[in-house]
Amino acid sequence: MSMDSESLPASGPALVAHAAGDLRIDDIPLARPAADEAVVEVSYGGICGSDLHYWLHGAAGESILKAPLVLGHEISGVVVRPAAGGAGPQAGTAVAVHPATPGPGAAKYPADRPNLSPGCTYLGSAARYPHTDGAFSRYVNLPVRMLRPLPDSIDLRTAALIEPASVAWHAVSRAGDIKGKSALVIGSGPIGALAVAVLKRGGAARITAVDLHAKPLEIAAAVGADQVINAADTAAIEAVEADVVIESSGNHHGLASAVRGAVRGGTVVMVGLLPTGMQPVPISLAITRELELKGSFRFNDEIDDVIAALADGSLDIEPVITHEFPLADALHAFEVAKDSTTSGKVLLSFDGEGPDQ
Ligand SMILES: [Zn+2]
Repeated sequence: MSMDSESLPASGPALVAHAAGDLRIDDIPLARPAADEAVVEVSYGGICGSDLHYWLHGAAGESILKAPLVLGHEISGVVVRPAAGGAGPQAGTAVAVHPATPGPGAAKYPADRPNLSPGCTYLGSAARYPHTDGAFSRYVNLPVRMLRPLPDSIDLRTAALIEPASVAWHAVSRAGDIKGKSALVIGSGPIGALAVAVLKRGGAARITAVDLHAKPLEIAAAVGADQVINAADTAAIEAVEADVVIESSGNHHGLASAVRGAVRGGTVVMVGLLPTGMQPVPISLAITRELELKGSFRFNDEIDDVIAALADGSLDIEPVITHEFPLADALHAFEVAKDSTTSGKVLLSFDGEGPDQ
């Protein structure tokens, strides 16, 4: 799979959001890598909610497209040219990617939580301008500090889940010690299902998953949920009285269910990103029940914990992948990913898209 520098192509196909409803496979030039950048030949890319938002609305929350953006931050691939500076993995190394670059902003944040650094950039994000291009690209130059070599026991397909699994791992770790505790996961899309898998691995005693649709609940059960509840059954959710609740639906109905489903003195971790602005939530319950409400945003070194847990077989997340399409069928893949009644994580496959194949 590795190539010497002479054989690297001058360009390759990439999935680019130009505006709302305007997603294209463009042939983009492979820029000259910086001294600290390796060239990665991308194998798989997972479609995330933010990718869908750029395609559907030309924006993900406050991040508005002002120029064409290469999408994608959940990828796996193989290094085809190591960094010229000599650091990082050698050619032929399979890698996962940590998409964040901590920001230089001066505002205060805890030094051990760079995910909170102001001005932090993320692959495939229009949060800043110029935008930060993503990695849904046959070839991508990435700084070696983003690359995590994969043990042989992790295949490249499963490795595309390492980024969202790290988001889920961070959320679960925000809840503190979960061993022996009852857990409730609101919203069983990919992040919720991955949270179920992480809770299971961490020894949560009883895990209940909630969603509006049957397919996500089926996936949640496959990765370790002991019980599933339809989101419309609020009485059943309230009866759970969970020690730990992970809110991953990203809407206020879900957050209301999370608050109602928590036991007195329990913890609610909010990882689903709610829309900006005011949100109607029964917050008085959180006061009188002395709930701990905690935010959760992206992740830091949890990616290394996820890789270790996948490598030793203690974390089972494969059932979260429901579909795979070649890059050439990206638009269809996005249509499928949009429909949470039928899909979990949808992958794009980039192998076969390069001129070397
Ligand atoms: Zn994502």
